[in-house]
Order: sequence, then C-alpha cells, then structure tokens
Amino acid sequence: MRILVTGGAGFIGSHLCEALLRQGHAVSIIDELNDFYSPALKRLNLEGIRKLGAVEFLEGDICDGERAYEFLKRNPPDAVVHLAARAGVRPSLQQPFLYERTNVLGTLTLLENCRRLGITKFVFASSSSIYGVSNNVPFREDDPNCLPISIYAATKLAGEKLCYTYSHLYAIRTVCLRFFTVFGPRQRPDLAIRKFTEMIDAGKPIPVFGDGSSGRDYTFVADTVQGILGALRYECGFDIFNLGNSAPVKLTEMIAAIEKAVGRKAVIDWQPDQPGDVPITFADISKAREKLGYAPGTPFEAGIVKFVEWFRTARSI
Ligand code: NAD
Repeated sequence: MRILVTGGAGFIGSHLCEALLRQGHAVSIIDELNDFYSPALKRLNLEGIRKLGAVEFLEGDICDGERAYEFLKRNPPDAVVHLAARAGVRPSLQQPFLYERTNVLGTLTLLENCRRLGITKFVFASSSSIYGVSNNVPFREDDPNCLPISIYAATKLAGEKLCYTYSHLYAIRTVCLRFFTVFGPRQRPDLAIRKFTEMIDAGKPIPVFGDGSSGRDYTFVADTVQGILGALRYECGFDIFNLGNSAPVKLTEMIAAIEKAVGRKAVIDWQPDQPGDVPITFADISKAREKLGYAPGTPFEAGIVKFVEWFRTARSI
C-alpha cells in the first residue's frame, strides 16, 4: 500500500514513516517544515526516514489544496494518516487563528482532496484534550460531554466532526485516534518531558504549573505507532479510539522519573495553573485493545529511560 503521512517529518510522523517503510509500504509525506520548533530537527527526521527507503515528499502547506492535489495525483495513496497540525494547548491561546487554519481548514482541504482523488481510507490524529475537564474518568470514546477548554482542543474536535461528515457523505473509511501525551525519542521540544530533561540536566530550575498533582496518561511513541498501524488495518465506516497507556502519572512522579534517569535532582520553580490545561487525562483503552489489537507495552519509567538515552545522543544537535 502507499500511505500519505501528513506531518511525516514531525515527532510521531517520523516514527510512523519508519515503521511503514519497515513493513514494506510505500510512503508519501506532506510537511511544510514550519518553525514551531527547529525545521533542522524535522530535516534530520526526514534523513532518518530516507535511510529506510525512498519517499515522495512535498514540502508544502496542507491548506494549499491545489498543490497537494497535483502532488497526490501523480502517485495517489491508498490511505492517509493525517498528523500535520499545530499542536500544543498553551500556544493555541496565543495564535487561535493559526491553529484554526491549520487544524480545521487544513483537515477540510485534505478531506476534499481525498474525495477528489477517490482515496477511501483516512486516519486522523485527534487528542485527549477534547475531553476537557471531564469527571468521567477514565475517558471513554462514547462520552457525550466533550467540552474542550483550549483552542487547540476545539480545533481537534472540529476535525473529528469533519471526518465524520466526509465518511458519511463520501464513504471514506475513517478512524479518529485520540492520542494521550506521546513521548519518546525525537519528542517535540515544547513538551514538558523534553523541556524538563534538558533543564534538569543543565541544572536549571524547571517551571512547574499547579501543585504537581495533575496527571497525564503518557504514552510511549512506539505504542502510539502500533495503534496507528492497527487503525490502518481496521475496517469500518467511521470510528474513534483512545490511544493512551491507561496509567496516568502525576507531574511530581514524572519529574522523579526524569531525575532518576538523568541522575540529577530538579530545582523546581512553582507557578500557578495555566489556562487551557486540564487536571487529568486518563484513557480507557478497552475498545482499542479489542478492535485494533492495541497493546501498549512500555511502562512510563522504562519509556523515560529510553527517552533519556536518546536525549544523550541527540544533545549535540
Ligand atoms: P509535530 O509538531 O512534531 O508534527 C507535526 C508536523 O506537521 C510538523 O512536522 C509540522 O511541520 C507539520 N505541519 C504543521 N502544519 C502544517 C501544514 N499546514 N502543512 C503541512 N505540514 C504541517 O507534532 P507531533 O507531536 O508529532 O503531533 C502529530 C499529531 O498528533 C498532531 O496532529 C498533534 O495534534 C497530534 N497529537 C500529538 C500529541 C503528542 O503528545 N505529541 C498528543 C495528542 C495529539
């Protein structure tokens, strides 16, 4: 199969492209290599992918529908994994229109291209943040009260709705995957685990928002990729799955795990809660286990050890 991975030069996308090539699939990538974090890191990710096989690559914006259409028409994919997005809760409050453009218009533009090109399999990267401040923990996919409390989360929920509409109108078989804080080698530099590791290692104080009791259902990137591969194989009209670890970790526990792996104590700079942040994410993954064969196999501490090992080799970049 040929798979288009939008955002394939990013953190999760680069791991997915490598896994697809290892399985013998052909891979196309659309990525604009924007400067949300260093484009040099994304180019490095692309280099790593190309070591495993040739890829068709368009350096461009998914919102530029005609350019993407011409690119895809030359070698149409059998399936799309749509990862390209503006990610991150806090920056979405600073740039709401940019988030809306990329995550909503971008998703719509891509779905339109699927319709035009007759591509009938679509996997969409959604987010645990769409559950908002839900009291129904662990979060289940059939929760009727998804009330996002950040612009980012609202754009992801809008993306899911567009996916449903296109699956209904044009029989595009679609799976929405709600990722829960993904971590591991090549993690985005804006995410807490990576930032904290860098700062603890350098002996700098880390800003900790809230009282440290907030919980995140951190998921190791290889497990997320395994879930995406399961979604590509899964046959349905439209469906939604949580891809978490189902074992939330408190912020203080996360810091302790990094301290242990780095071998240095953190200096903590306590800060008030941030708007848009939710107190806990916690995935019920029974549906994904049953239907996608999803089986996260990396406990949090083991994942942190792997992350820090990678961090030590990547630090010089
Ligand atoms: P990332 O920023 O590393 O990757 C996203 C990639 O998309 C980047 O390479 C970027 O250049 C590209 N991109 C952004 N806007 C684009 C545009 N308009 N046109 C073309 N390319 C564009 O992020 P990631 O952590 O790998 O996240 C991948 C997906 O998973 C995103 O949709 C994100 O919202 C979702 N997600 C991630 C997490 C997580 O913890 N990392 C959690 C929930 C959901």
